Amino acid sequence: MSIVHTDREKCQGCYACVRNCPAKAIKIRDGLAEVIVERCIDCGKCICVCVTKAKQAESDVEKVWQLLSHHPDVVAVVSSSFPAALLDCKPGQLVASLRKLGFTDVMEAAFGAELISREYVRILNESEGRPIISSNCPAVVAYIAKYYPSLLSNLAPIVSPTIAMGRIIKQRYNAQAKVVFIGPCIAKKTETTDEDVTGAVDAVLTFVEIKQMFADRGINPGDDEEQEFSGPKPDLGRLFAISGGLLKVMDITDDILQNDVISVHGQDYVLRILGEIAQGDINARFANLYFCHGCIDGPFIDNELSGFSRKGLIARYTRSNADPIQTENDIEQYADIDLNRKFTGQNIYLPTPSEEEIQSVLEIIGKVDPNYRMDCGSCGYASCQELAVSISQGLAEVNMCWPYLLKKLEATQEDLIQAEKLTSLGQMAASIAHEVNNPLAGVLIYTKLLAKNISTENIGKEKSLDYLNKMDTELTRSSKLIRNLLDFARQSTPTLRLVDINQVIEQAFGVGGHQADLQNIKVIRELSPDIPKVMADFDQLQQVFTNLIMNAIQAMPEGGKLTLRTSIGNDGQLKIEVEDTGSGISQENTRKLYTPFFTTKEKGKGVGLGLAVAYGIIQRHHGRIEVQSTQGKGTTFTIYMEANHAEKG
Ligand code: ADP
Repeated sequence: MSIVHTDREKCQGCYACVRNCPAKAIKIRDGLAEVIVERCIDCGKCICVCVTKAKQAESDVEKVWQLLSHHPDVVAVVSSSFPAALLDCKPGQLVASLRKLGFTDVMEAAFGAELISREYVRILNESEGRPIISSNCPAVVAYIAKYYPSLLSNLAPIVSPTIAMGRIIKQRYNAQAKVVFIGPCIAKKTETTDEDVTGAVDAVLTFVEIKQMFADRGINPGDDEEQEFSGPKPDLGRLFAISGGLLKVMDITDDILQNDVISVHGQDYVLRILGEIAQGDINARFANLYFCHGCIDGPFIDNELSGFSRKGLIARYTRSNADPIQTENDIEQYADIDLNRKFTGQNIYLPTPSEEEIQSVLEIIGKVDPNYRMDCGSCGYASCQELAVSISQGLAEVNMCWPYLLKKLEATQEDLIQAEKLTSLGQMAASIAHEVNNPLAGVLIYTKLLAKNISTENIGKEKSLDYLNKMDTELTRSSKLIRNLLDFARQSTPTLRLVDINQVIEQAFGVGGHQADLQNIKVIRELSPDIPKVMADFDQLQQVFTNLIMNAIQAMPEGGKLTLRTSIGNDGQLKIEVEDTGSGISQENTRKLYTPFFTTKEKGKGVGLGLAVAYGIIQRHHGRIEVQSTQGKGTTFTIYMEANHAEKG
């Protein structure tokens, strides 16, 4: 069972874990990554690459606090990688601090390495044929148990140094003692609960967790007086955390001339070599495998030192503490400790999808044609084919494919635009029907009344003229509406010529400007004589400014000030302003101004097409229209247009 789990709240669906998981043990559900516990090998890669800390490992910290407070004898066994992991204290200070926390004894796991390396030498001498694979790295063991069960019999049937130490402590030291291993690896947490070695170790802490425990108790290991490790004394076993360490203790080399001993570290190489061993392509006698680059590269060492520097620290510690005679004596003393173990395979069978299933997924994500398979890796899988297989197996989702997702978004956007267009069209049709139907209904009533009264000769000349007048008004309204509609609908490309904007404005004002006099509106012209001409359709621009000026005048029924201003901006653009001191426009209405048929004017006075028409014309002239308004104070419409600087004046 895996001890890694996902905090879905924190997961951002970046697929970094999918990309980095060597066991394909991450499943995407609703865009978020989850660990598939049966497939996970607890290598910790997903935890290291998750920037949002959504991937977490179960912690034994609470359990260890309990052990320390309830058990008289709790022994700490420290991984041989500790000199590379805990840089702020000397080895003896670490011992003292652990004792301060409540551990009765502190031992080096490296002695377990001394013992098991002798076992390795023995089985290597006895082995025939198939390559022996080292079984110290729990992530390698878990990978084989789950993904290469055919290689289980290749695994050296020997416990890891950690379990060896647990057995030494429980068999020779105190059967009641509780053993806590401290190291750089979370796969140890699963290893120690494996039913094939259960009982030797009671809890596992990472270096990061032990630092936290020191901090919680206010212990600074660098301040403590040094104390000696207890238990049997290791020698070269202290090199075990380095990838070639086991070979050094066994006194064999991975001599490339002989090529019968392979020492491989790092997940990519390990996976490749396991595949080759399973295929029967490797003739070596012994493969020493580490999922990380040795334990000194374990996921829970939190300093920035390079592998080289870490190696140096381990080597220095080993050199300066060597006592081979003492180690030999201790090995003699513990030679009868049972170091055997067996391995059990785990069924994580996932049905292989059929070719048709894979093809149908490739079809959905648009990757049937190999030319479109970019294998971009953004989904976390190395190839489109791999993604399709995982989708068929229910481990991944089609939305993980970015090119597919982009296409889907584009299609959705087009659908939305289409839907919006249809809605606007519907609103417009309803408005037209309403506007046209009302006057027609009126005319119909008056024609009927007229006909009835004429047939009964029950009508005077005056009444008849009244009816006809009313019909005239209604029909004029309809005709005006139709004219406006035609203007709006006429998307004709402007007939461009060089146009003097000041002249356009004068002409536009001439159309309805007399109304300003009647309403006591003061008209101010600030028309710059220096502005360049613009390439524009004179008539269409006149229509724009007529609409703006008429709106401004209508907004000032009680009089006010209308300013018509032209200028040239710093950016060289022409700026034309129509400013009034009228009623102003509410914020809500400002958003609707250019929507066809939006009007606040009373029936007969406005149809709500003036600004929609103006907007369309300015757009076609590649200009822009802006409005600024304060309710009760006034409104300014500003139009920006490209000036033709070649033709001044
Ligand atoms: P209409 O004039 O037929 O109503 P428009 O499209 O020209 O149609 O104007 C739409 C609405 O915008 C007007 O009904 C009015 O509410 C508002 N509006 C336009 N210009 C002004 C302005 N200068 N001051 C206040 N409101 C304005």
